[in-house]
Amino acid sequence: MKKEIKAFDNILALIGNTPLVKLSKITKDFKGSFYGKVEAFNPGHSSKDRIALHIIEQAEQKGILKPGDTIVETTSGNTGFALAMVSVIKGYECILAVTSKSSKDKIEMLRAMGAKVYVCPANVAADDPRSYYSVAKRLHQEIKGSVYINQYFNELNADAHYQSTGPEIWEQTAGQITHLVACSGTGGTISGTAKYLKEQNPNIRVIGVDAYGSVLKKYHETREFDTDEIYPYRIEGMGKNLIPTATNFDLIDKFVKVTDEDAAHSARNLAHTEGLFLGYTSGAAIQAIKQLEQEGEFDENSIVVVIFPDHGSRYMAKIYNEDWMSEQGFFDAVHTDESLKIEY
Ligand code: PMP
Repeated sequence: MKKEIKAFDNILALIGNTPLVKLSKITKDFKGSFYGKVEAFNPGHSSKDRIALHIIEQAEQKGILKPGDTIVETTSGNTGFALAMVSVIKGYECILAVTSKSSKDKIEMLRAMGAKVYVCPANVAADDPRSYYSVAKRLHQEIKGSVYINQYFNELNADAHYQSTGPEIWEQTAGQITHLVACSGTGGTISGTAKYLKEQNPNIRVIGVDAYGSVLKKYHETREFDTDEIYPYRIEGMGKNLIPTATNFDLIDKFVKVTDEDAAHSARNLAHTEGLFLGYTSGAAIQAIKQLEQEGEFDENSIVVVIFPDHGSRYMAKIYNEDWMSEQGFFDAVHTDESLKIEY
């Protein structure tokens, strides 16, 4: 009999089942135990691999997608890369509409993964025919056999995390998790994971991380869409200037807002202390843990899981670039949080 070759069928078989890593140094003075769910271990280096695979496979099962069909989405980020990767393996064309604000590196990364990228003007209204939203919608209407992923308004986004991230965390913590902390962008990660976990134990506290300049926290507290909350910020991938239907606000117990500066320093600190070289929102999430600890959210018995959405290599031109940090004024004066200080 032939010996078995130990190989995966293709790269998609490696999506999910990401490791939970105990944090020790960065949380050493905090009450409770802290664990990071390191989504950078997905083959596309982010949590978005899960939704790309799930949404595409659901469309296949419903008979909406056939080989050679087209996937359309508006993103230059992790979702775009994940969709491009899944499309390569499954034989779809992947078209991504992005704004001219997206960095050249990001656009080249998407093209390297085989996506067709339309670069649209950044400073036009969403309903302008030149906007990336309008371009994606038009392409979807024009191209027969195309699927528009629409991650902010697609219920399958949260469902991907309900099916995978939630059960993984429940199993990895042997059902002992007391708190889930996750950044919210589309809200798919936090909503789907929280739904599964709260079904197992309704006492689990679910805490969302939002950016200053985003409407999510205020909306959660008041159910009002307050445009005064909207202003530019630098953290990419979390917070929003609209209310995504992919977010189930009822499953989130509270939101914490973090600043661009604190999140950047916290991400850098994660690398220096835990050897975890992760993205800007991972810094935001660990910063949120720090603020929650100060608010007295945790006690000795807390078992806290924090989601780390992506890898640090995507941020070489930003938080891991000393010039960029200086230009933002993030190295100026005394940093507000003494514990985040690192000697350079
Ligand atoms: N961090 C990063 C880097 C992301 O790309 C995203 C997705 N927009 C998030 C966090 C938030 O995840 P979600 O969209 O599932 O809320």
